[in-house]
Amino acid sequence: MTSEESLEFAAALIADARSVVVFTGAGVSAESGIPTYRTGTDGLWSAQNMQRFANPAGYRANLLEAYQWYRARAEGVASAQPNSAHVAIVELERVVPRMTLVTQNIDSLHQRAGSREVLELHGNLRCVRCDACSSRVPWTEAPADPCCTGCGGMLRPEVVMFGELLPEQAYVAAHAAAESCDVLISVGTSSQVFPASGLPLAALVGGAWVIVVNPEIDGQPTHEQVLPLPGAAGQLMPDLVRRAAARKAARAHG
Ligand code: NAD
Repeated sequence: MTSEESLEFAAALIADARSVVVFTGAGVSAESGIPTYRTGTDGLWSAQNMQRFANPAGYRANLLEAYQWYRARAEGVASAQPNSAHVAIVELERVVPRMTLVTQNIDSLHQRAGSREVLELHGNLRCVRCDACSSRVPWTEAPADPCCTGCGGMLRPEVVMFGELLPEQAYVAAHAAAESCDVLISVGTSSQVFPASGLPLAALVGGAWVIVVNPEIDGQPTHEQVLPLPGAAGQLMPDLVRRAAARKAARAHG
């Protein structure tokens, strides 16, 4: 298939679907200026830093430095703006009868674009939480030191660190949606972080089509129901949603 044919085929799948899952990763926010985990070059999001600070033992061992590192990340995402891919995903909700948005991202850009229900599999950078008393405070009001002002416990970001369990409710809901959807659109994820990366597979096992939007893939399908769309999310997602909406409108009028 040419890229034009692939896009039209993907749009037709979406227009015909009763239930769509959109599954996003760091790549959906790349065009908002937030480096992805694996492609980040600014050091802040580098794999080395992730390994030092993004697991519970590393966090404790480097407490003040790690706390400040997360604060810098929280400030970075707060100053970023949603891009056209986030906006297109909001619009997609109006095009399909049922849509579930599942993200591995912690930047809240889907919510800031207008998505109301977002299943966050890896937490968020909105708040810090006390490890002892579980009280929460937004990063903008967090103390300079990682010490709870209420009980003196250790403050930590509300993100899922490597080796920690995913929030059960969000994961169960995401898995159920993936298993029963007609189409899962994977946008900007390297699908290397388990168990989130199992969602496209759950969709395939359930008989769904999986559309993959990523600039670093080729156009060769890895499975008969996988449709790769090589390209940037900020360009492809608005195009895809526009085409799917046009198909539905044409059907309604004719
Ligand atoms: P990843 O960094 O492993 O992979 C990002 C993927 O996005 C790559 O495959 C890359 O080719 C693709 N990509 C790059 N630019 C793109 C674009 N413009 N459009 C579409 N795709 C693009 O990210 P991941 O798979 O989400 O896993 C990394 C983990 O790190 C996640 O758990 C996430 O919580 C965390 N993380 C989050 C953010 C964020 O919240 N914005 C940023 C970095 C890392």
